[in-house]
Amino acid sequence: MMGPKKEKAEEAMRMLIDGAMVWNGTGAPPFPGKVLVEGERIVAIAPQSETLAADGADRIDAAGKFLMPGMVEGHAHLSFVDTPRGTALGELPPEDHALLTMDAARKLLGAGFTSACSAAAAKIRLDVAVRDAINQGVIDGPRLLAASPELTVTGGLGDGRKLHLHQDSFGIAVDGPDEVRRMARLCLREGVDTIKLNISGDVGTESAPSEAAVMTDAEVSAGVEAAHTIGRRVAAHARASASVKRALKHAVDVIYHCDYADSEALDLLEAARDRVFTGPAVGLVLARLEGLRGDNTPQGRLYLERLKSLYEATCRTHHEMRKRGIRIVIGGDYGFAANPQGTNARDLEHFVTHFGFSPSEALQAATRTGGEIMQRGHELGLVKEGYLADLLLVDGDPLKDVRVLQDKKRFAFIMKGGVRYLPCEGAPHVRQAQ
Ligand SMILES: [Zn+2]
Repeated sequence: MMGPKKEKAEEAMRMLIDGAMVWNGTGAPPFPGKVLVEGERIVAIAPQSETLAADGADRIDAAGKFLMPGMVEGHAHLSFVDTPRGTALGELPPEDHALLTMDAARKLLGAGFTSACSAAAAKIRLDVAVRDAINQGVIDGPRLLAASPELTVTGGLGDGRKLHLHQDSFGIAVDGPDEVRRMARLCLREGVDTIKLNISGDVGTESAPSEAAVMTDAEVSAGVEAAHTIGRRVAAHARASASVKRALKHAVDVIYHCDYADSEALDLLEAARDRVFTGPAVGLVLARLEGLRGDNTPQGRLYLERLKSLYEATCRTHHEMRKRGIRIVIGGDYGFAANPQGTNARDLEHFVTHFGFSPSEALQAATRTGGEIMQRGHELGLVKEGYLADLLLVDGDPLKDVRVLQDKKRFAFIMKGGVRYLPCEGAPHVRQAQ
């Protein structure tokens, strides 16, 4: 099966989910209860011992199952279609690319993610077109906030050009505040919710290492001003400590990675914790570490060394960020050959294994904090009266072992806005570019 299918063409207007262990997303312990859904919202919740008026409702026997909020992918790249190289994304024509992005959206919903906050599209209108098609009911997918491509400086992460050859990747190279402003405005005109700025470099980008803050103050400021002037947000790729500080100085809203944040940067993040969101996006780092173990070439060994240093830094930083109550979302950088779309729930396990999160804390990052990064904390991310009925009914207890959410066969249903979907079956297909 390629993607999630609506379980029924006609959904009952009222539905009573009866007898599940209800975990509401706040961190409170689960309780046996009933949840009444009407249309797209949760209208009533009661402990199992109490009666709940549910006349005419379809009753779903959920005894022995676990009910929780739908998960939120906090750093989505739906148009990164599992290619081994960034430049393979540049080679894809927009028409083909849109279809593959749509497929990734279905896979993500079919993996239990009912919302996704994009951290960059590979072409300007990909997220926008898919977001709009989902909202119009044309295609199935999670609620989506659309991002621009990664605005990067010449030689920065995502600049795939070569001097002798025109070649695109997933970034758009812009230098100086005027170019940043012009490109940010163009992306905003085309409908993105979020402008993405690559302030630091990354492992494997020789001219822009992870520890370097290559995008200048003036450039960051210009991008933020363009977005904030019309009430939209900015997300940053920020591995270097100086890049985290620069993002905070210019009021960037979402600061991804933060791996090398020093104690001053951590203090600043903590001071801004009611305003900013962060997300490590560690899945790709771990997947690449696994993949490189057998590579004995000099380049392979150097890359592995750098990745290990990044991994150690990110573990230190995220243990500390968790203790300081900084909001951290799960997900990120799924959509590479090593880390394919649809396997995003592995991030919960990563948070528990590598960052010291309890299963409940990891699940809260995936649900309540996710609702907040979607800017809909008042109606998304919790099982609560009045909230949107984005729910997962799971055969298993993720509070004992978060890995049950990686097994799509465990989902009795995935519900988005009161509509039930079946999980995406089978392994994600990994695309190999020529
Ligand atoms: Zn990313």
